[in-house]
Amino acid sequence: MPHSTWKAMTSKQVKARFGAVRTTAGAVRPVSGARITGGLLHDWQRRNGTATIPHTIERLRAAGNLTNLSRLLEPDPAPYRGLYPFLDTDLYKTLEGLAYELGDGDEQPREFYEEVVGLLERVQAEDGYLNSFFQDPAAARKPWQDPAWGHELYNLGHLIQAAVAANRRMGDDRLLRVAVRFADLVVRRFGEEGLCGHPEVEMALVELFRETGERRYLIQAGRFVDRRGTGRLKHSIFPGDYFQDHVPFRELPSVTGHAVRMAYLAAGAADVFLETGDRTLFDALERLWDDMVASKLYITGGLGSRHSDEAIGDRYELPPERAYSETCAAIAVMQWAWRMFLATGGAKYLDAFERVLYNAYAVGLSRDGRAFFYDNPLQRRPDHEQRSGAEAGGEPLRRAWFGCACCPPNIVRWMAQLADYVAAERDGAVLIANYAAARIETAAVALAVETAYPWDGDVRVTVERAPEEAYGLVLRVPGWAANVTAAVNGEPCAAEPDGDWLTLERRWAAGDEVRLHFPMPVRAHGSHPYLDATRGTVSLARGPLVYCVEQRDSPLASVDDLVIGVPDIAAAGVERRDDAVVLRVEAAAAPPVSAELYPEYPGPPEQPRTRAGTTFVPYFLWGNGDPGAMRVWVRTS
Ligand SMILES: [Zn+2]
Repeated sequence: MPHSTWKAMTSKQVKARFGAVRTTAGAVRPVSGARITGGLLHDWQRRNGTATIPHTIERLRAAGNLTNLSRLLEPDPAPYRGLYPFLDTDLYKTLEGLAYELGDGDEQPREFYEEVVGLLERVQAEDGYLNSFFQDPAAARKPWQDPAWGHELYNLGHLIQAAVAANRRMGDDRLLRVAVRFADLVVRRFGEEGLCGHPEVEMALVELFRETGERRYLIQAGRFVDRRGTGRLKHSIFPGDYFQDHVPFRELPSVTGHAVRMAYLAAGAADVFLETGDRTLFDALERLWDDMVASKLYITGGLGSRHSDEAIGDRYELPPERAYSETCAAIAVMQWAWRMFLATGGAKYLDAFERVLYNAYAVGLSRDGRAFFYDNPLQRRPDHEQRSGAEAGGEPLRRAWFGCACCPPNIVRWMAQLADYVAAERDGAVLIANYAAARIETAAVALAVETAYPWDGDVRVTVERAPEEAYGLVLRVPGWAANVTAAVNGEPCAAEPDGDWLTLERRWAAGDEVRLHFPMPVRAHGSHPYLDATRGTVSLARGPLVYCVEQRDSPLASVDDLVIGVPDIAAAGVERRDDAVVLRVEAAAAPPVSAELYPEYPGPPEQPRTRAGTTFVPYFLWGNGDPGAMRVWVRTS
């Protein structure tokens, strides 16, 4: 296929395009005309552009992801680099993030973007097929030989998402043409039968329907959801529940199997609901969501407690030191949450979104933006490094890259698009879904949001452009917030929220100002009595942030011997350290414990304890210094 040319759209044309994304059955619509202008999320986005993206590009080149494509243009191709059939998706996810960066005027990654897009255009097969692992003239493998493990539709899904992002944000339709050719092949081949072992393409096909208006993509997405659990996939390597393919989606008793697959599937099913209004699908989604939040999410929002099969465990099986909680699963849960919010307008989904964003997702990246966790435990034992230290061939903390590098480029694309999750709208109202310093622009209204959230709970919203008619400003009240106060132009107004929202409806004028205050006391959370692994411990939180204690901040005792009680929590102080808000808690050191693993119960009477101030840091910032023990859950006795 020859190189095509394209001309960048003006920002006005782009805005007109991506402002037009609507869903059929949703209670609220996404707002794509938001930009994050300051604060923590802005720092994260800047770090993404200056550190994580250049690092990712360098690693993708070194790992051979590009040569896996370019080798297909050589007469005598070198072997495929890497073990997995989904390595093209690392490029697609990166391209998706770059589409946002380039669309926002950051030209730095242009060369890489152009190189990869050019390669993809040239490597795509005549019939539209594209996967560098299977398109290998020298290898015995053939396309579609193993739908359960081949990841070919998963690959297509990420290609589509990159293509839609490039078309919407940059007005560049070259990737979209590549994606459409592959999608059309898939609709022809899978129209009657077949599905992929790794869900992802469902979300993407619905997005392709939204972008092109071609209903066949939506129908195909629905087919893939409906076919799961009907005995059509020959399972290789793993059992049926790993693929969520042991029972039909609507009959799943609980979220189960491989965590990333589960949450991508649910997000895709939610997208199908958003466009078809199929209540049977939504009823299943709501039931699965509520069950997950009630019994299967870590306090950080992490999903998946089993290293074996990267799987979700039984209800209440949430051991902190064995949390798998893959970074990709965190992103998938946010995708699912956002779609449930679009479907219902329900703020509880945003509470989960926010919990994941600031904890399970953010912890996956180092402070410098160049190293990654794949799994995200909530506890490190003091002897952990003895097993995973450099001498054992591993690294005790985050790593620069992985052989299976699904998480790093997933972090990149998600960071780049955070502004898409700041606001939503419905007829006659705009909703602020997540608080960040931002500019929010819709056809009806333009708002400026100023806040240092999540470090403090003061928010100022200024109307910059007002609608002619009465209009609703609908402000989310986070689930953790109490005693919220609000004022319009300095006049206190009833802050009694309407459910989880504060709705202010009136005729607005440019310059009107709304101030909100969400008090952020230090909170302590216990856990459900069935959650045996954290019984007798508490976790500290403030606003949406979960806190943890690292050994370097606990001179008093091993973090395993730290004890905090109710008075200590009530007296906890808050202070600034570097660019973060940390907690100061007067903790006690437990007296020496019996060396016996199973001493007789109850043990000897309580002994006096020594006490000292101890610093708790936001969980997402742990592990940026010397490796050491860490706990989210701290003993109460
Ligand atoms: Zn991953």
